[in-house]
This record gives sequence, structure tokens and C-alpha cells, in this order.
Amino acid sequence: METEIYWQAIQNNDARFNGAFVYGVSSTGIYCKPSCASKLPKRENVQFFDDFSKAEQKGFRACLRCQPQSAKGNPQMETVLRAAELLGAEEQISLEELSGELKVSATHLQKTFKAIIGVSPKKFAEIKRLEKFKGELKKGTDVTGAIYESGFGSSSRLYENVSEKLGMTPKTYAKKGKNMKINYTITDCELGKLLVARTSKGVCAVMFGDDEKTLRENLSKEYSKAEIAENNANLKDYIEAILANLKGTNKTLDLPTDLQATAFQMRVWDALRKIPYGETVSYQTVAERLGNKNAVRAVATACASNRVALVIPCHRVVRGSGELSGYRWGVERKKAILEKEKQ
Ligand SMILES: [Zn+2]
Repeated sequence: METEIYWQAIQNNDARFNGAFVYGVSSTGIYCKPSCASKLPKRENVQFFDDFSKAEQKGFRACLRCQPQSAKGNPQMETVLRAAELLGAEEQISLEELSGELKVSATHLQKTFKAIIGVSPKKFAEIKRLEKFKGELKKGTDVTGAIYESGFGSSSRLYENVSEKLGMTPKTYAKKGKNMKINYTITDCELGKLLVARTSKGVCAVMFGDDEKTLRENLSKEYSKAEIAENNANLKDYIEAILANLKGTNKTLDLPTDLQATAFQMRVWDALRKIPYGETVSYQTVAERLGNKNAVRAVATACASNRVALVIPCHRVVRGSGELSGYRWGVERKKAILEKEKQ
């Protein structure tokens, strides 16, 4: 039941909704039809019923002024309200699917929906998703997760504009290493400079770069609230394992990690760790493995936010066409790693 639509109809004394529902007012014990000219009740005192007999079952008495029990509904309104319900519940139902479900023509549905609700079915679905999205954020879900949970697909413009709409970037949501004590070291490798950082729990950064200064800066940017210190001895085992992986002598890089991430990022990263050495999959495939074929862009974002190169093998995710697409540490490095793995 899309109660907001009903509440809107009451506020407008909208006679078109007569017969579609009645509303009971708990402070008076009376129920009315939408067009009733009685004083507007407080929202929290209002209950909606799709049939007057249900209001009576709950003990409400019919308003003498508007005689709600005799109001007749019309099938067109029923269709529109049912459409609103489906749009509010389903993930990305198309107008065609909707009209098929309701057994009316798409053109007719589009027209009557807009006439009664005031916006097109598409716009309505977008509003519902935006509401859900905001609800998810309030619950503490991060932006990427909220987009995913609220059913926004990869084509959504909301996704493109999400930073704008929230006044902050998804990255701001990361905890920036608060309460983390980090040791790091920098070494040479065949792809330039390699920075590896860890906490007592596991590896928290593996980054490639061209010079040490930039790598250090990137580490402190990534973990701006952490305590960071250089410590070569503490990183010896990790460095050895990672360099061996890069050379191809250690194909299972099974290091423990210590990463602050959202549930969605974690799910993507777990899926990436299951891609075997030497193989590649598409973003689409990863999205499907996570059970949401529409989450392609969210998957790509989670890949791009990987902080531990090689350990979480985001380099094994490529475009559907087989093209390499981007890599946080340079597409040339991605190419070199994949070539090495394929040997
Ligand atoms: Zn009334």
C-alpha cells in the first residue's frame, strides 16, 4: 500500500480516489472517503483501508457528512494504485512488464498513471528508490551499498550524481584508518616501487608507484587517521610472498587482510579472491556471481577502491569485451601482471 499517495489524496480532497480507499481517524473514531471536506486530521492519527468494511471491523464509524460506505471505486484507479505498489516494491520493473502484469496497454497505463499520481511510472519508481536509498544511508549503509540495496542499476543517473546529491564523495564514508596502527615498507619490484603496509591483523595496503614520496603520501591519504610508521622487519614475510606472487613462483597469495570496508565492498572483494590465478572475468560476471546482474557499476567501483593490489586480485576483472579497462595503479601494470600470470 503506497500510503503517501493516499495521504496526498486526502490533503487534496481528491474525489478521484473515492471508492479506492477510506481513512480512519483514531482521535475521532470516524472514517471518511478521500474527498471529505472535514478538517484535515494529523497524519499520525490516520489509518488507511482499501475497503470500508475493514474500517468498520476496526471499530471506526462512517462519517455522516461524506458517507464513505457508499463511494464507488473505478477499475482505472485500482490499476494505477496497483502499479504504484509494484513500482514501489519491485526492483526496476519496466513499463512493459508492468502493463503485462496489470493487463493494460503501456500507453494507457502511462497516461492514466501520470494523470492520477502526477508523475510518470518511471519518475515514481525513481522517487521510491531515492527514498529507499536515503533510508539505507540513515541505517548506516555506505553509498555503494545503499545504491545496490535500493535497486539502482548501473544505468542510473543517480549513481553518476551520487556525490553531488549527498554533498560528499563515497570515499568520505570510509573510516580513514581510525584506531589503526600501521607499519609499512617500500621496496623495488619489476613494476617500479612497491609499498606494503600492515597492522597486527593483516595487510592493509599494497600499492605500486613510481617514487617513494608519492607512495607515502598516498598511504597517509588513504589512512589519514591512522598511526603510521616505517618498519621493514615487520613486513619481511609479506614482501617476500608478494614479490614471489609477482614473479609467478607463488600462485596463491593467501595473506590475511585488515581492511575497513562496507559489506558490499567485502562481498565484491571476496568474489575477486576466488578468481583463480591466470584467469580473468568481466565486471558483469562478478555482478552475476553476487546475485545482481544490475550491479556492474557498483562492482567496478568496489574494484577501483581496492587498497591491496595482488592480495585482492582486482586486476583479474576486465571489460566484457576482454579489454583491460582501468587499474588503480596504471593499466600498463595490470597488463604486465596478467601477461605474467598467463605464462
Ligand atoms: Zn467524512
